[in-house]
Amino acid sequence: MTRSPLPPVPARDMAVDLLVIGAGTGMGAALAAHERGLSTLIVEKTEFVGGSTARSGGAFWIPANPVLMENGSTDSLEQGERYLRAAVGDSSPEARWQAFLANGKAAIDLLRRTTPLTFQWTKGYSDYHPELAGGTAVGRTCEPRPFDVSVLGEERNRLRSAGVEAPVPMPVTSADYKWMNLMFRIPHRGVPRVVKRFAQGLGGLALRREYSSAGHALAAGLFAGVLEAGVPVWTCTAVDRLLTGEGGRVTGAVLTQNGREVTVTARRGVVLATGGFDHDMDMRHKFQLEATQPGWSLGSEGNTGDGIKVGEEVGAATALMDQAWWFPEVAPPPGGAPSVLLAERSLPGQFIVDGSGRRFVNEALDYMSFGQLVQERERAGDPVGDMWMVFDRGYRNSYVFAGSLLPRMPLPKAW
Ligand SMILES: Cc1cc2nc3c(=O)[nH]c(=O)nc-3n(C[C@H](O)[C@H](O)[C@H](O)COP(=O)(O)OP(=O)(O)OC[C@H]3O[C@@H](n4cnc5c(N)ncnc54)[C@H](O)[C@@H]3O)c2cc1C
Repeated sequence: MTRSPLPPVPARDMAVDLLVIGAGTGMGAALAAHERGLSTLIVEKTEFVGGSTARSGGAFWIPANPVLMENGSTDSLEQGERYLRAAVGDSSPEARWQAFLANGKAAIDLLRRTTPLTFQWTKGYSDYHPELAGGTAVGRTCEPRPFDVSVLGEERNRLRSAGVEAPVPMPVTSADYKWMNLMFRIPHRGVPRVVKRFAQGLGGLALRREYSSAGHALAAGLFAGVLEAGVPVWTCTAVDRLLTGEGGRVTGAVLTQNGREVTVTARRGVVLATGGFDHDMDMRHKFQLEATQPGWSLGSEGNTGDGIKVGEEVGAATALMDQAWWFPEVAPPPGGAPSVLLAERSLPGQFIVDGSGRRFVNEALDYMSFGQLVQERERAGDPVGDMWMVFDRGYRNSYVFAGSLLPRMPLPKAW
């Protein structure tokens, strides 16, 4: 639920050690800096903290991370390295993915020390390419456990709302969703999950607790850590341009709050954590598809590529601009919201055809590969067009569809 945000903390000229721009995962950078004794400031363009992170699944894929290893996973950094070499290869500099691998454990340890979050392994959520060297079908994905966002107190009003919300208050994790979706097929696994989360959601309200899951829990936990650390967060404050000093080193930024400019000097650095450019149509048309429509985003509205733009102004390079987090969804009725397809494509009794009625994809592909394939077809001058999912009665009567249609429920007329 979207709340009325609190008025922003007034911005002023000042000097800090580290300036973090963007209050999504940037809050993690701020927590790391604060723990090392650096004075830190977070600035956020919108009225809300959380960014697309708050709207996301909140799942993290980190090989051999402590949550996996404490729960019986046989993963290792060597296996993770084999997988990254096979899956990422030279599409990203090796030094960068090696750093991701080497520092994953420290990142999770940091979140455990500096936030009230706890995590679980989503066991059975397969790697997206389990067939590659080092891949695993039991998976490495972990996620936050349900988190009580009421611990934020008054600051709760400053937290961005979740993207996909359950129709009733219940904190559904990915691990729950798997069994809830199969509730009509395997009731003894699905029904207890529904009862547990429903009781937690509703019982929590009675106790004045408000449980969240997924990315909303992650963002709330990060925010709770930031508040506890006393790191200031200036909302409604956008980076305008970066300041540079000797040798082109970034020394701070000019920010705008309610039309007023302030200058923040950053002695040790500036972290650009302003998310992607899903709400800048010029950039999407330039780097991705001409056919892209403004409604095609599940991300936070503040993400207009600002960090990329100010970075480029001071000479930063860019890469992988044609890539995004892709996700197939059911087209929204006029004025309505899209419905994402989570597990639907992986279940028996359905197939997908392109606009000309041809089957063109392994429906159960991970959502990234699905999106990339659609893009490739577009680029090759053979656009997929409107895609149609064809399913039988057995399928419809067995599984949840588009997030909220329970088995046997009729399809909405607008579809
Ligand atoms: C529905 C959905 C589900 C997803 N699920 C997952 C998942 O389970 N696991 C996973 O790894 N990834 C997932 N992703 C992708 C993931 O959410 C993003 O990659 C990640 O949240 C990006 O984090 P960020 O900190 O870069 O950006 P954000 O979290 O979007 O934060 C950027 C912030 O910067 C602010 N900002 C923008 N411009 C300025 C400016 N000029 N000045 C100041 N502030 C500015 C924005 O308002 C925003 O608050 C998902 C994405 C979506 C949309």
